[in-house]
Amino acid sequence: MRIVLLGAPGSGKGTQAARLQAKHGVPQVSSGDLLRDAVARKTELGLKAKAVMEAGQLVSDDIVLGLIRDRLSRPDAAKGFILDGFPRNIDQANSLSALLTEIGQPLEAVLLLDVRKDLLLKRLAGRRVCPKCGAVYNVNSMPPGATGCSNDGAELYQRPDDKEEVIGKRLEVYEAQTRPLVKHYTKLGLLRAVAGEGELDDVFERMEAAAMAKPVSAGKVTVRASKSDEPVLGGIGSSKAKAAPVPKKSAPVKAPAKKAGAKAAKKSAQSPAKKAGKKVSASAAKKKAVRAKAAAKSSKKPSRKTTQKRAKSAKTVAKRKPAARK
Ligand code: AMP
Repeated sequence: MRIVLLGAPGSGKGTQAARLQAKHGVPQVSSGDLLRDAVARKTELGLKAKAVMEAGQLVSDDIVLGLIRDRLSRPDAAKGFILDGFPRNIDQANSLSALLTEIGQPLEAVLLLDVRKDLLLKRLAGRRVCPKCGAVYNVNSMPPGATGCSNDGAELYQRPDDKEEVIGKRLEVYEAQTRPLVKHYTKLGLLRAVAGEGELDDVFERMEAAAMAKPVSAGKVTVRASKSDEPVLGGIGSSKAKAAPVPKKSAPVKAPAKKAGAKAAKKSAQSPAKKAGKKVSASAAKKKAVRAKAAAKSSKKPSRKTTQKRAKSAKTVAKRKPAARK
């Protein structure tokens, strides 16, 4: 497994990378973790990176590339790697490609974790980390009153770059510098979009499926431009690369029948499916007329006049076009 996890801050790259590592025995290589470790050890490089990270900006390419190069040269990476948070711009992607060619370990896939912005904000603002074991929690899903790590009891802390004033900057940086990688890797035939919302286990299942899928040769990839100039992509659990939320388990709210009928009639001018919708609506009107007739017959003591009136009005209903009904 030689893959890159791509996605906005808070999309779940770290969580899913850790799970893939645990199950497949391939190391998670997180540029963020490598940098935080350098900051914590107060190395020269860490001292340089600290302020940049706390401002939500990207650390210079050569610093990050140096860390990644060292990490990939370790023996455990010989059997593969899960890159998490690297590359984050086109230059880094090109440097990575050169490095992987040099060490004879080309990329197999790039998995894009797709999550809507409002959920990203909620996840980032609520994220808390254990300083001892690194376990990640979210205040939105923790039991009420819990403040410590369930592994070792250590008091959880908030990453400085998860503070509300920095989160916006990080998402801006993602849009401007990292999102172009979606198109880049699509063109190379490596990108696989995965719906990143929903239960962790479900997202993991989709990630695994995407990671294991047979590669597509770059020559077979067509990139169609959409309005936003983003490529339109297929993916695991996602019909498009752009926000493909997982359907909620609760029953969908149905549109009122009248509106649905009007919609179907409107659509019928353009497609055969819509014509079918019109037929259904017309037959529904007929059924309604029959029911009205039956009701007229079975009502307790209808006068002859009333019965005739009801039958007449039922015929009128059957004749009306569905779209004209309100
Ligand atoms: P992360 O843990 O991936 O969210 O990264 C935390 C911070 O580390 C980012 O906001 C950047 O400041 C820095 N960082 C992580 N990866 C990179 C990278 N590939 N290039 C530049 N800066 C990075």
